[in-house]
Amino acid sequence: MTENCIFCKIAAGEIPSAVLFEDEDFRVILDVGPAAKGHMLVLPKQHFANLYEMPDELAGKAFILAKKMARKMKKALNCDGINVLQNNGEAAGQTVFHFHIHLIPRYRNDMLKIGWKPGELTQSDKAELLKKFEEE
Ligand code: AMP
Ligand code: ZN
Repeated sequence: MTENCIFCKIAAGEIPSAVLFEDEDFRVILDVGPAAKGHMLVLPKQHFANLYEMPDELAGKAFILAKKMARKMKKALNCDGINVLQNNGEAAGQTVFHFHIHLIPRYRNDMLKIGWKPGELTQSDKAELLKKFEEE
């Protein structure tokens, strides 16, 4: 447990939350500031600040659980779609620095805005990026 981490406290049951699912590694809770009704968060019980810090096995389990909850969400809410989001770093919109996966139910014409204006993959960007990732 990392001191002063709200999700550590929620995962440990020290701060109340609406728990939809729990196992030895994770809690799935309802987001208190939902983008849409039913917005949930998958939280590991152990503290890792972001995806980069997550051990491979736990990261795998987290996304498998997100899939399981997505299927439950679809059935329970009869939503038309689901956004699965995972923010890393302030620049990416992360506000709680304890890894979590968002699941947001979507409905046709719900007007919720999660998106971007498509740019263009130029030939020079493509060449530069292929080279950068080849070097890794
Ligand atoms: P992110 O911006 O990806 O770090 O997402 C953090 C999310 O945590 C936001 O959607 C908040 O609404 C949510 N959140 C913050 N505090 C709580 C809390 N005590 N219980 C449930 N969700 C929370
Ligand atoms: Zn934490």
